[in-house]
Amino acid sequence: MRIGIFGGSFNPIHIGHLILAQECWDKFRLDKVIFVPAYMPPHKELQGKVSAADRLNMVRIALEGDDRFEISTYEIDQAAVSYSIDTIKYLKGKYEKNDTFFFLTGADSAENLSKWKDIDKILELTTFIIATRPGWNEDNAYEDSVKYATIPLVEISSTMIRDRIKKRKPIDFLIPCKVVQYIRDKGLYRG
Ligand code: ATP
Repeated sequence: MRIGIFGGSFNPIHIGHLILAQECWDKFRLDKVIFVPAYMPPHKELQGKVSAADRLNMVRIALEGDDRFEISTYEIDQAAVSYSIDTIKYLKGKYEKNDTFFFLTGADSAENLSKWKDIDKILELTTFIIATRPGWNEDNAYEDSVKYATIPLVEISSTMIRDRIKKRKPIDFLIPCKVVQYIRDKGLYRG
């Protein structure tokens, strides 16, 4: 099997994430993409005062019924800073020896690859894919060791969604409608 691992804060999940996962699934002929919500990402602070359980619920709602996509709660269950190398080793341990793993990221996350914990090991254990993201250059020091995915560019981020909610602006069509409903029902990101 060809398995994509896609980590993120998903705070909240938006269509930029879904487009990235779908395009990589298609371009790299993946059997599935496993979304891994971080408990606490190493390279940025979590904003918006929303629990890991709510972030996970929103990912669940967004992916419901789509059998290309799965979720791993490994990082949330650890309840500690999430390092990709640990997640990769854990997930690889769950599958067959001849399954191949792809690690999906957007160009912003891949900007400082040299700072990632055990990056050389990550590049050895997975095919590292960097997807285009508006405003970010995909070039980096590891260009010989990574693959690139040119995907439809959407200028959407979780930060932008959180800002719009705070300012009482609409978020419809930027995130799946059932996730919009969840955010409204629970009053998330308003304060
Ligand atoms: P925030 O605005 O809170 O920093 P974010 O929108 O960047 O969040 P994350 O959950 O941190 O979302 O991102 C998870 C992964 O998805 C990262 O690898 C990121 O680069 C990628 N990603 C997020 N949004 C996009 C987008 N619009 N286009 C391409 N890649 C994206």
